[in-house]
Amino acid sequence: MTALTPWVRAALRCPVCRGELDDAGPPPAVACPTCGVKYPVRDGIVHLLASEGKPL
Ligand SMILES: [Zn+2]
Repeated sequence: MTALTPWVRAALRCPVCRGELDDAGPPPAVACPTCGVKYPVRDGIVHLLASEGKPL
C-alpha cells in the first residue's frame, strides 16, 4: 500500500513547526526535514502527534 495520495500529503503540516511533510518509507511514514522527525502512517492514517514522532 502506498503511503498517501499526493493531495493528502500536501495538505499535511508538521505538528511542531507547521512545515510541509515529505514521504518517508517504507514502512509508510511522513517526515519533517526541518525537525528531523518522521511520523508513522498506519492503515492509511497519519499519526501526527508529537509523541508519535521518531528521529529520522
Ligand atoms: Zn517540523
